[in-house]
Amino acid sequence: MIREYSVAVKDHMSSRRFQKKKEDFLCAHCGEFVVGDGYTNHCPSCLHSLHVDVFPGDRLASCGGLMAPVSSRRKNSEERLLHRCVRCGHEQENKIAPGDSREVLLSLMESAADDFFKGTRKP
Ligand SMILES: [Zn+2]
Ligand SMILES: [Zn+2]
Repeated sequence: MIREYSVAVKDHMSSRRFQKKKEDFLCAHCGEFVVGDGYTNHCPSCLHSLHVDVFPGDRLASCGGLMAPVSSRRKNSEERLLHRCVRCGHEQENKIAPGDSREVLLSLMESAADDFFKGTRKP
């Protein structure tokens, strides 16, 4: 019994999935299974990420905290998403991927607009 189990685990760990560079991961926030495309590192459903990069893509950060989406904005006609690490406070801008949730992005834009217009304009 025990031996069969350990053999199964070994086979699983050495499967091709764990060797490729593009990372698939389970979202640490909502549990969505995210298929990596080599560019995006955040969950398309809730836009959360993990603090694993010092610079985008290098995977050199040792923090590993959850990166929460805090705002989105346009920069040179490109939409950008700002993440902030809930553990250490590190902020990082990411490109928004085509499959990212528009609902979450819109709610981020609305909350940013609310802050901007707070006290200056009524709905
Ligand atoms: Zn998620
Ligand atoms: Zn961090």
